Amino acid sequence: MQPAYLFDIDGTLLKVRHKVNRTLIQRILERFGFNHIDVAGLDFAGKTDRDIFSELLKQPDVDMFHQVKQLYLQELERNLSARDIHVYNGVHDSLDYLRERAAWTGLLTGNFARAAKIKLAATGLLERFRFGAFGDDHHDRNELPPSAFEELVRHSGEPFRPSDLIIIGDTPRDVECARSFGSVAVAVATGSYSYEELTDCRADSVLHSLEEFPEWNERYMASRA
Ligand SMILES: [Mg+2]
Repeated sequence: MQPAYLFDIDGTLLKVRHKVNRTLIQRILERFGFNHIDVAGLDFAGKTDRDIFSELLKQPDVDMFHQVKQLYLQELERNLSARDIHVYNGVHDSLDYLRERAAWTGLLTGNFARAAKIKLAATGLLERFRFGAFGDDHHDRNELPPSAFEELVRHSGEPFRPSDLIIIGDTPRDVECARSFGSVAVAVATGSYSYEELTDCRADSVLHSLEEFPEWNERYMASRA
Protein backbone atom coordinates (compact mmCIF):
# COMPACT_ATOMS: atom_id res chain seq x y z
CA MET A 1 0.00 0.00 0.00
CA GLN A 2 1.13 3.51 -0.80
CA PRO A 3 1.95 5.56 2.33
CA ALA A 4 0.09 8.73 3.35
CA TYR A 5 1.92 12.04 3.68
CA LEU A 6 1.50 14.65 6.39
CA PHE A 7 3.09 18.06 5.98
CA ASP A 8 3.91 20.68 8.56
CA ILE A 9 3.26 24.24 7.31
CA ASP A 10 5.64 26.92 8.66
CA GLY A 11 9.26 26.26 7.75
CA THR A 12 8.25 23.27 5.62
CA LEU A 13 5.82 24.49 2.94
CA LEU A 14 6.09 28.21 3.44
CA LYS A 15 7.40 31.09 5.48
CA VAL A 16 5.29 34.01 6.66
CA ARG A 17 7.45 37.11 6.73
CA HIS A 18 8.86 37.24 10.26
CA LYS A 19 7.89 40.86 10.74
CA VAL A 20 4.24 40.36 9.78
CA ASN A 21 3.66 37.46 12.14
CA ARG A 22 5.51 38.95 15.11
CA THR A 23 3.92 42.40 14.74
CA LEU A 24 0.51 40.81 14.71
CA ILE A 25 1.13 38.74 17.85
CA GLN A 26 2.72 41.71 19.63
CA ARG A 27 -0.31 43.89 18.84
CA ILE A 28 -2.72 41.30 20.20
CA LEU A 29 -0.75 40.87 23.43
CA GLU A 30 -0.73 44.62 23.95
CA ARG A 31 -4.49 44.77 23.36
CA PHE A 32 -4.85 42.38 26.31
CA GLY A 33 -2.52 44.38 28.53
CA PHE A 34 0.62 42.30 28.09
CA ASN A 35 2.86 45.25 27.23
CA HIS A 36 6.06 43.90 28.74
CA ILE A 37 6.53 40.92 26.42
CA ASP A 38 8.84 41.33 23.44
CA VAL A 39 8.05 38.54 20.98
CA ALA A 40 10.79 39.49 18.49
CA GLY A 41 13.40 37.07 19.80
CA LEU A 42 11.20 34.18 20.94
CA ASP A 43 11.41 30.78 19.30
CA PHE A 44 8.04 29.40 18.18
CA ALA A 45 9.37 26.69 15.85
CA GLY A 46 7.51 23.41 16.16
CA LYS A 47 5.14 24.66 18.87
CA THR A 48 1.36 24.57 18.53
CA ASP A 49 -0.49 27.90 18.32
CA ARG A 50 -2.32 26.89 21.47
CA ASP A 51 0.97 26.33 23.28
CA ILE A 52 2.45 29.63 22.06
CA PHE A 53 -0.47 31.77 23.24
CA SER A 54 -0.87 29.87 26.52
CA GLU A 55 2.78 30.45 27.34
CA LEU A 56 2.79 34.12 26.34
CA LEU A 57 -0.38 34.84 28.32
CA LYS A 58 0.80 32.84 31.36
CA GLN A 59 -1.88 30.14 31.28
CA PRO A 60 -4.96 32.25 30.46
CA ASP A 61 -8.45 31.09 31.49
CA VAL A 62 -10.70 29.56 28.82
CA ASP A 63 -12.52 32.83 28.11
CA MET A 64 -9.42 34.89 27.62
CA PHE A 65 -7.78 32.23 25.48
CA HIS A 66 -10.86 32.11 23.26
CA GLN A 67 -10.89 35.91 22.84
CA VAL A 68 -7.20 36.03 21.99
CA LYS A 69 -7.56 33.20 19.51
CA GLN A 70 -10.49 34.87 17.75
CA LEU A 71 -8.65 38.17 17.56
CA TYR A 72 -5.51 36.50 16.19
CA LEU A 73 -7.52 34.72 13.48
CA GLN A 74 -9.38 37.91 12.54
CA GLU A 75 -6.16 39.87 12.32
CA LEU A 76 -4.47 37.15 10.31
CA GLU A 77 -7.38 37.02 7.87
CA ARG A 78 -7.42 40.79 7.53
CA ASN A 79 -3.67 41.36 7.25
CA LEU A 80 -2.10 38.38 5.56
CA SER A 81 -1.71 38.44 1.79
CA ALA A 82 0.22 36.33 -0.71
CA ARG A 83 3.10 38.82 -0.80
CA ASP A 84 3.76 38.22 2.92
CA ILE A 85 4.27 34.51 2.29
CA HIS A 86 7.18 32.76 0.63
CA VAL A 87 6.45 29.25 -0.67
CA TYR A 88 9.65 27.20 -0.70
CA ASN A 89 11.16 25.74 -3.85
CA GLY A 90 9.94 22.26 -4.63
CA VAL A 91 6.62 22.56 -2.76
CA HIS A 92 4.36 22.83 -5.81
CA ASP A 93 6.29 20.12 -7.67
CA SER A 94 6.20 17.76 -4.67
CA LEU A 95 2.46 18.23 -4.27
CA ASP A 96 1.91 17.74 -8.03
CA TYR A 97 3.98 14.59 -7.80
CA LEU A 98 1.85 13.22 -4.94
CA ARG A 99 -1.37 14.18 -6.71
CA GLU A 100 -0.29 12.29 -9.84
CA ARG A 101 0.13 9.24 -7.62
CA ALA A 102 -3.25 9.83 -5.93
CA ALA A 103 -1.48 9.68 -2.56
CA TRP A 104 -3.35 10.68 0.56
CA THR A 105 -1.85 14.03 1.48
CA GLY A 106 -2.70 15.94 4.63
CA LEU A 107 -1.49 18.44 7.21
CA LEU A 108 0.06 17.96 10.59
CA THR A 109 0.55 21.40 12.01
CA GLY A 110 0.59 23.32 15.24
CA ASN A 111 -1.39 26.07 13.49
CA PHE A 112 -4.99 26.64 14.53
CA ALA A 113 -7.07 25.03 11.75
CA ARG A 114 -8.33 28.41 10.55
CA ALA A 115 -4.84 29.92 10.60
CA ALA A 116 -3.64 26.99 8.48
CA LYS A 117 -6.47 27.58 6.01
CA ILE A 118 -5.78 31.32 5.79
CA LYS A 119 -2.07 30.77 5.06
CA LEU A 120 -2.65 27.99 2.52
CA ALA A 121 -5.58 29.71 0.78
CA ALA A 122 -3.45 32.84 0.30
CA THR A 123 -0.86 30.74 -1.55
CA GLY A 124 -3.27 28.54 -3.54
CA LEU A 125 -2.17 25.39 -1.72
CA LEU A 126 -5.26 24.72 0.35
CA GLU A 127 -7.05 22.29 -1.98
CA ARG A 128 -3.99 20.04 -2.08
CA PHE A 129 -4.71 18.70 1.41
CA ARG A 130 -7.57 16.37 2.17
CA PHE A 131 -7.28 15.90 5.93
CA GLY A 132 -5.21 16.99 8.87
CA ALA A 133 -4.58 17.58 12.55
CA PHE A 134 -4.25 21.09 13.92
CA GLY A 135 -3.10 22.95 17.00
CA ASP A 136 -6.52 24.04 18.31
CA ASP A 137 -6.97 21.31 20.86
CA HIS A 138 -3.45 20.23 21.68
CA HIS A 139 -0.60 21.72 23.65
CA ASP A 140 1.72 18.91 22.71
CA ARG A 141 2.65 18.16 19.12
CA ASN A 142 2.89 14.45 19.96
CA GLU A 143 -0.91 14.41 20.32
CA LEU A 144 -1.33 15.37 16.64
CA PRO A 145 -0.37 12.13 14.80
CA PRO A 146 -3.12 9.99 16.43
CA SER A 147 -5.68 12.67 15.47
CA ALA A 148 -4.44 12.86 11.87
CA PHE A 149 -4.35 9.08 11.65
CA GLU A 150 -7.97 8.78 12.80
CA GLU A 151 -9.00 11.34 10.16
CA LEU A 152 -7.07 9.49 7.48
CA VAL A 153 -8.63 6.12 8.26
CA ARG A 154 -12.10 7.67 8.43
CA HIS A 155 -11.78 9.51 5.09
CA SER A 156 -9.92 6.84 3.14
CA GLY A 157 -11.55 3.72 4.57
CA GLU A 158 -8.18 2.04 3.99
CA PRO A 159 -6.29 -0.08 6.54
CA PHE A 160 -3.36 2.28 7.12
CA ARG A 161 -0.93 1.56 9.94
CA PRO A 162 1.04 4.25 11.84
CA SER A 163 4.18 3.12 9.99
CA ASP A 164 2.42 4.02 6.69
CA LEU A 165 2.46 7.69 7.68
CA ILE A 166 5.29 9.89 6.46
CA ILE A 167 5.50 13.02 8.58
CA ILE A 168 7.41 15.88 6.97
CA GLY A 169 8.52 18.83 9.07
CA ASP A 170 11.35 21.26 9.75
CA THR A 171 12.10 20.90 13.47
CA PRO A 172 13.24 18.26 15.98
CA ARG A 173 9.71 18.47 17.42
CA ASP A 174 8.30 17.21 14.09
CA VAL A 175 10.77 14.34 14.12
CA GLU A 176 9.94 13.47 17.72
CA CYS A 177 6.18 13.49 17.08
CA ALA A 178 6.59 11.16 14.07
CA ARG A 179 8.71 8.78 16.14
CA SER A 180 6.32 8.87 19.09
CA PHE A 181 3.62 7.41 16.81
CA GLY A 182 5.85 4.92 15.01
CA SER A 183 5.70 6.88 11.75
CA VAL A 184 8.44 7.83 9.29
CA ALA A 185 10.15 11.16 10.08
CA VAL A 186 11.36 13.19 7.12
CA ALA A 187 13.01 16.46 8.11
CA VAL A 188 13.53 19.32 5.70
CA ALA A 189 16.15 21.99 6.35
CA THR A 190 14.22 24.99 5.01
CA GLY A 191 13.09 26.25 8.44
CA SER A 192 15.09 27.34 11.45
CA TYR A 193 17.18 24.15 11.80
CA SER A 194 20.17 23.21 9.69
CA TYR A 195 20.67 19.95 7.82
CA GLU A 196 23.26 18.91 10.43
CA GLU A 197 21.00 19.69 13.41
CA LEU A 198 18.19 17.67 11.86
CA THR A 199 20.51 14.77 11.15
CA ASP A 200 21.52 14.78 14.83
CA CYS A 201 17.92 14.44 15.99
CA ARG A 202 17.60 11.02 14.32
CA ALA A 203 15.18 11.78 11.51
CA ASP A 204 14.73 8.81 9.18
CA SER A 205 15.74 11.08 6.31
CA VAL A 206 16.83 14.69 6.02
CA LEU A 207 16.35 16.77 2.86
CA HIS A 208 17.90 20.13 2.08
CA SER A 209 14.58 21.23 0.62
CA LEU A 210 11.41 19.71 -0.81
CA GLU A 211 13.05 19.93 -4.25
CA GLU A 212 14.63 16.61 -3.24
CA PHE A 213 11.34 15.05 -2.16
CA PRO A 214 10.12 13.25 -5.34
CA GLU A 215 13.48 11.58 -5.80
CA TRP A 216 13.65 10.67 -2.11
CA ASN A 217 10.17 9.16 -2.34
CA GLU A 218 11.10 7.05 -5.35
CA ARG A 219 14.03 5.61 -3.40
CA TYR A 220 11.88 5.12 -0.31
CA MET A 221 9.15 3.29 -2.25
CA ALA A 222 11.76 1.04 -3.86
CA SER A 223 13.16 0.21 -0.41
CA ARG A 224 9.67 -0.75 0.86
CA ALA A 225 8.89 -2.99 -2.09
MG1 LIG B 1 7.39 24.09 11.19
